[in-house]
Amino acid sequence: MTQITHWINGSLDSKKPERTGDIYNPATGKVTGTVAFANAATVDSAVSAATAAFVEWRHSSLTKRTQVLFAFRELVQQNKEKIAALITAEHGKVLSDAAGEVTRGLEVVEFACGIPHLLKGGFSEEVSTGVDVYSIRQALGPVAIISPFNFPAMVPMWFFPVAIACGNTVVVKPSEKDPSAAMFMAKLWKEAGLPDGVFNVVHGDKEVVDALLVHPGIKSISFVGSTPIARYVYETGTKAGKRVQALGGAKNHMIVLPDADLELAADAAINAGFGSAGERCMAISAIVAVEPIGNALVARIKSRMANIVTGDGTKGSDMGPLVTAVHRDKVASYIEAGAKEGASVVVDGRDLKVDGDGFFLGPTLLDNVSPKMSVYTDEIFGPVLSILRVNTYDEALNLVNSHQYGNGTAIFTNDGGAARRFQNEVEVGMVGINVPIPVPMAYYSFGGWKNSLFGDSHAHGTEGVHFFTRGKVVTSRWLDPSHGGINLGFPQND
Ligand code: NAD
Repeated sequence: MTQITHWINGSLDSKKPERTGDIYNPATGKVTGTVAFANAATVDSAVSAATAAFVEWRHSSLTKRTQVLFAFRELVQQNKEKIAALITAEHGKVLSDAAGEVTRGLEVVEFACGIPHLLKGGFSEEVSTGVDVYSIRQALGPVAIISPFNFPAMVPMWFFPVAIACGNTVVVKPSEKDPSAAMFMAKLWKEAGLPDGVFNVVHGDKEVVDALLVHPGIKSISFVGSTPIARYVYETGTKAGKRVQALGGAKNHMIVLPDADLELAADAAINAGFGSAGERCMAISAIVAVEPIGNALVARIKSRMANIVTGDGTKGSDMGPLVTAVHRDKVASYIEAGAKEGASVVVDGRDLKVDGDGFFLGPTLLDNVSPKMSVYTDEIFGPVLSILRVNTYDEALNLVNSHQYGNGTAIFTNDGGAARRFQNEVEVGMVGINVPIPVPMAYYSFGGWKNSLFGDSHAHGTEGVHFFTRGKVVTSRWLDPSHGGINLGFPQND
């Protein structure tokens, strides 16, 4: 049995926790370990360590910071398989997916290695006689990162490489469901030469989040999770005077226009709907088929679904289990609700038979879904694809724009003009054109609109650098040496 505890000031916390949570292997349904739950006093120790470390780290040279970042990058790269195995054991996603999320996280580390360039300010010479103006960006201090279960390595990596590169110190609060990846990375930071106290990890649930949200030592909150909690974190954190970016839930639509390549669209629907068992904030959940292609598209998706092997993520399956039994049952209840509300169940994931007690649910396809059904209004966060049929592009666009979420979306078409119009008109933060999961590269910023993000900064890219720094503008006047400066042979003015 693994016992996970907090990582504070470069070492494991040895205090006996008052509360712990169980860690499961979702593929077996068995408890494999426990995780310590922090209270306000533990949070205070982590913030104190981060505050003390900030004094030196903010003054460390850009050269020193990039050396540590490059070393960390190499270590994560060398240990990718080990981190992936930890993720699969606690989250359930298949190993290739788990390795993929480490790769996407690494891209942010690589972006942060360019911090000397990213922190360059502006300079205007002679704005008035003898007066120059320039801008600099400075670190905030200790910052908190609170992450969800579905990307235990990648989501914290959206934030901490940039935060640390900018000179901040960090307290990470991973999901209590899969805390091991963050702990592994904490040890890699130490090996990479990051000073103790710059990277800390505390575990737990609402109690630890609440303590971070109001702790006076924490200067900003980067949160990713479900919309109700994201809203709560945003409201509570900003009320306490902190800078907050809180990324929430999603309901991503994929529009298929009548001229689209249906083979490409069907492949995309399978990958984006069922990859990681649909537990991705960029998963496609609603497919909007613009008639007359509805039947042809459904037939292609259905036939591909027969080839998806659902099972233990370490054993060559295509799709793993859901994260908990409670979540599996919740997702299954949406299939029931969809059927009751009038959707056609084309493929029913509840029919799946897998040996053992793992939290499995097979891929599910619902057709003739309408906008009022709960399978459409709610984020399901599981392997359930809904097909909505409409007659025009405008109806399709209106569906996307009327939804409460605006994280990602995709359009499939061969008409560049239609795609161009869609990218302009759609009210969503990340748009794919014949690309189902348009996750921006690290040097762009990740984030949605509407109820998918509270705050005004997206993650990583230049928005990340701005979020983790404060701007300062200096206006300076230096008189010519002739006005009494040191005598270096300049003519004096007397
Ligand atoms: P969650 O909201 O349950 O938990 C997220 C974090 O908040 C965890 O660290 C958890 O411990 C903490 N938390 C849970 N309940 C809390 C409470 N009452 N008060 C304070 N903190 C609390 O989310 P999850 O189930 O771990 O993750 C799935 C959700 O995350 C989905 O809704 C998904 O769309 C979303 N997500 C969004 C993005 C994005 O970029 N927008 C990315 C990944 C995941």
